[in-house]
Amino acid sequence: MSPVVQKCSLCRRVRDDGGTEVGQETWGDLRDFLIKYDLRPIDVDFSHTFCPECAHAYRNALLYRTPQALKVSGDAGS
Ligand SMILES: [Zn+2]
Repeated sequence: MSPVVQKCSLCRRVRDDGGTEVGQETWGDLRDFLIKYDLRPIDVDFSHTFCPECAHAYRNALLYRTPQALKVSGDAGS
């Protein structure tokens, strides 16, 4: 079974859980991650998520943009 790597949907960095305490994960470049653990891209499965920085930025974007920006479905007109 392939290891599942958490990948940020926005900045495309991946989470490195290796040798860190829970909540102390580091986020870095996918290529560096694969080299560090001697993996090939086909060796891993990706689960898309948001890294803490992007989650924070995205949350702020949703909070402070106009209400129209929050409408994902429904009428786009008017
Ligand atoms: Zn990110």
